[in-house]
Order: sequence, then structure tokens, then C-alpha cells
Amino acid sequence: MRRLVNELMVPARGGCAFEIKKGQILRVVEIEGPQVGDFNAFNLHNFRERLDAPLSAALNSSFRHFTRLYTNEPRGRLMFTVVDDPTKVHYLSGGHCTILHYELIHGIKDHHNCYDILAKAVTPYGLTHYDVHGVFNFFMNVSYDANGRMIIRPPVAKKGDYMDVRAEMDVLGAIAACPGDINPTNGEDRVPKPLKIEIYEKE
Ligand SMILES: [Zn+2]
Repeated sequence: MRRLVNELMVPARGGCAFEIKKGQILRVVEIEGPQVGDFNAFNLHNFRERLDAPLSAALNSSFRHFTRLYTNEPRGRLMFTVVDDPTKVHYLSGGHCTILHYELIHGIKDHHNCYDILAKAVTPYGLTHYDVHGVFNFFMNVSYDANGRMIIRPPVAKKGDYMDVRAEMDVLGAIAACPGDINPTNGEDRVPKPLKIEIYEKE
């Protein structure tokens, strides 16, 4: 049995920060349909120790499906264990969209972007753009062609799908509901949607 201790709505094109205590379970829910969540995580007691997506991909031998997420070196400690993951399609590259991404690749100025959304979310903790790090992309569906070119596909996740991860240390989490509306990052409809965050404690 587990008890809900916190729930938050992440508005479309918005973000938020929240604390997850060791042993609690973070659930990210596709509350209105396919939507990617760009996630940062810090050791709540030492913000220099943070989620390392590329290291986690290497240690799981996969950028798409995995069971454990680790912090950066030199600590390299277990930060989250996946406990329930019905869709099994996510992305652990570390990449997130930035204002440069939209301007240089797509020629669009001043587009909402995950980098700025995450920086704003962690401001109450005294953190800034310099502290935003490589993300774990909940529900993002990426593959590569024979030339290594990145192909962004719609999430496999549908409305109501979720992913549960258990915190293995006290964590400050921050998530951006990716505002991508140019490719199918957030579904065939290319419409950014909200996400829901739920945090559970074992009874
Ligand atoms: Zn984004």
C-alpha cells in the first residue's frame, strides 16, 4: 500500500520543482495525452551532485529503456530505481530544447524552451541557468538512422500512462512540460500538454 503525499499539475509549456524524500515514489502522468517531461534532479543536500543522464545511459547500456538512474561523478551514486514503467520508451541522452535550438535549427526566435523553464523552476532554491543540467526525458521517443541522424517520433505513451521511479536519496526534482510544437516530440498533434506529478510514500 502507498499513500499520496503530494500532487502537482505542470501546465503546458510550464514547469515546477518539488522535493522527493528517500524511499518515496515519483509518478509522472500523461494526464491529457502524449507529452514529454524534461527532468532535472539534484541531491537535496548537495546541489553539486545531480542526475547524470549520459552516465545512466551508459550504465544501463541503453538510452531508451533502463532500470536505474545515477548521479554525476565523482559520486556516481544510485539516485532513482524504476519501479513501474508500462511504456518502456523514454530518452536518456541529456539533451533538452533551448532558445538556440529553435532559433538556429528552425528559425524561430524567443520560443518557449525547456532550458528556461527548468531554470525558472529551480530559482526558489537559489539555483540558476548554470545549474540546469542534462535531462532525463520522460516519454520521449527517439531513434537514430544508419547515419546516426536523430529521428523524433511521437511518444508511445497515451493518455493516462505513467512512469514510477523510487528515490534512493533525498532529491530536489524539476520538470518542464516540453513546449516543442514543431516535430512530433509531444504527439502527432504537435500540441504541448500538461503533465501531472504524484509523490507517494510507502505505508
Ligand atoms: Zn523541450
